[in-house]
Amino acid sequence: MVGGGTAGAVLAARLSETPELFVTLLEAGPDHDAYDALVREPAQAPTLWQGGAQIAMTPMETEAGMIAMQQGRLLGGCSAMNGLATLRGQPADYDAWEAAGLEGWGWADVEGTFIAAETDFDFGPSAIHGSEGPLPVRRWRREELSQAHRAYYEGLLEVGEPHVADINDPSQLPGIGVFPVTIDENAKRVSTSLAYLTEKVRARDNLLVRTNAEVAGLVFDGDRVTGVSLASGEELEADEVVLAAGALFSPFLLLRSGIGPAAHLAEHGVTARVDLPVGSTMSDHLGPGIPYRHDGPRGGTAGPAQVVLVGASNGRDVDYHAFPIGPTPGDDEATVFMMAVFSMRSSGRGSVRLGDGFDAGPIVKAPPLPGDTPERLGHAFERIAAWERSAAARELGCEPVEPHDLRAPGAVARALERLTISYAHMVGTCPMGPVLDADCRVRGIHGLRVCDASVMPTIPAGNTYLGCVMVAERVAKKMQAEATAAGGGRQ
Ligand SMILES: Cc1cc2nc3c(=O)[nH]c(=O)nc-3n(C[C@H](O)[C@H](O)[C@H](O)COP(=O)(O)OP(=O)(O)OC[C@H]3O[C@@H](n4cnc5c(N)ncnc54)[C@H](O)[C@@H]3O)c2cc1C
Repeated sequence: MVGGGTAGAVLAARLSETPELFVTLLEAGPDHDAYDALVREPAQAPTLWQGGAQIAMTPMETEAGMIAMQQGRLLGGCSAMNGLATLRGQPADYDAWEAAGLEGWGWADVEGTFIAAETDFDFGPSAIHGSEGPLPVRRWRREELSQAHRAYYEGLLEVGEPHVADINDPSQLPGIGVFPVTIDENAKRVSTSLAYLTEKVRARDNLLVRTNAEVAGLVFDGDRVTGVSLASGEELEADEVVLAAGALFSPFLLLRSGIGPAAHLAEHGVTARVDLPVGSTMSDHLGPGIPYRHDGPRGGTAGPAQVVLVGASNGRDVDYHAFPIGPTPGDDEATVFMMAVFSMRSSGRGSVRLGDGFDAGPIVKAPPLPGDTPERLGHAFERIAAWERSAAARELGCEPVEPHDLRAPGAVARALERLTISYAHMVGTCPMGPVLDADCRVRGIHGLRVCDASVMPTIPAGNTYLGCVMVAERVAKKMQAEATAAGGGRQ
C-alpha cells in the first residue's frame, strides 16, 4: 500500500484484520509519534505548520492566481493536520454516484459505513449516529469557541438563521450549527492513524508499517503491476498495489507510470500503457476569504473549524459553507480572521499533470467555478451582511479589513477575482467510472487499485476527510471478501 494518510491508515488497519493478507504500508513521511505534540493539538491552525517537513506544499493555479496547497506528509496524512471538520456530505451526492452506474455507493449503502466509523459522544447511538466506531466525534462546546465564532453563531441566530443541532443530519439543514470534529475526551485531535493503527493493530504479524518510505514508481510485468520502487532504489514485490497517496500524488504516480491521457503522456515522453483520463477531472470547494478584524483576545480553545453556516440558496440543496477561519490561540491584539465563503459545487474541470522533468512535482490547476457561483454565493453574502449589522457582531467590534458592501451589485464576482481560496478538498483525480471500476481497480491494468480522495467521481457537498474514511472502509470490505475467497495475498 502506498500512502499511510487518511484513507491509507484505515485501509491498512482493516485489511490486516484478515489473516490471509500480508500488508506493507509505505508512508513517505514520518510516524505520527515523531510529531505527536502537534498532531494531537486541535487548536493549531494548519497555517502554523507551513514549512515543516511533514507538509508537502504544492502550488495550485486558480482563477485568482497561484495558491500553495498543503498536504500532510506523515502517518495520518491530512487527517493529522486538517481543520478537523467531520462531515459526511449530502445523501443526494452519493445517490448521484450510484445513478452514474457505481453500484454500492448510494446513500443507502454508505450511510451505515459513516455510522459504523464513529463514536458520536453527542448523538450516538441513534438512527443516524454510531457509538462503537474508531473515530471519536463531538461538537465544540460554547465555552470552547473563540469570540469571533461565538459572535458569528449568535449574530446569525439573531438575524433569523435556523439553529441546527446536528449538521450531519440532512433533515435539519440549512442553518447555522457547530462543526462535528474528531477529537478525544480531552479535546485532542485523533488522526485516522491514531484511531485505526493502534499499538495492538501495529503488533499484528501480517502488517508492516514503513515510514520515511517514499514510493517513486510502479513495477510492471506487461499489464500487471508486480510491485513498487522506492525513492531509495529498493524494489518491493506485491500481489496487488493500492495507491492511497492522496488526490494530487496518486494521479501523479499513475501518470509517471504511463497510466493517463495518452496525448499528455506523449508530450512528456512517456508511453501510455492505458489511455485513461487520470488527473483530468479534479473537483475542489473554492470561494472568497474576506478578512475581518476585531479588538481583544481571540478567546476559546477550539480548533479551526468551529461554527458554520450551511447554506442553500434555493432553500433546499446545500450549496455553500460560510464561516470564520483563524486566528490561532495566543493572538490577543486586534485579532484578524477570514470569513470563508465556499461554494459546495465544482465544475470538476481542475487537473493534475506531469511537470517538465522527471523530478518536477505535479502541476495542479483548480477547477474553474461553475457559471452560477456569483448567484449562489450572493445568498451567503446577504446573510453575512445581515450578520455584520447584528448586535452580536457590533458587540464584538468586528469590521472588514477593507471597507465593503456585500450587498452591492457585483460584490461576489469582485471578491472571487481577488480573494479566492481553496477549502483543500481536492478529489476526483482518479474517479470511479472513467478511471476505476466500482471496486476501485484501475481499468486495463491488473493488480492495481486506488483508495483515497482521488476516487470520488464528484465532490460531496461537505468536507472530504470523512468521505475518505468511508471510501477506505468500503474498499477494505471488498478486498477482504476477495482475499477470503482467493486464499490470501500481499498488498
Ligand atoms: C490544510 C487542510 C485542512 C483541511 N481541513 C479539512 C477539514 O477540516 N475537514 C475535512 O473533512 N477535510 C479537510 N481537509 C481535506 C481532507 O483532510 C482531505 O480531503 C483528506 O484527508 C485526504 O485524504 P487522502 O487519504 O486522500 O490523502 P492524505 O490524507 O493526504 O494521505 C496521503 C498520504 O500519502 C502519502 N504519500 C504521498 N505520496 C507518497 C509516495 N510517493 N510514497 C509514499 N507515501 C506517499 C502522504 O505523505 C500522505 O500521508 C483539509 C485538507 C487540508 C490540506
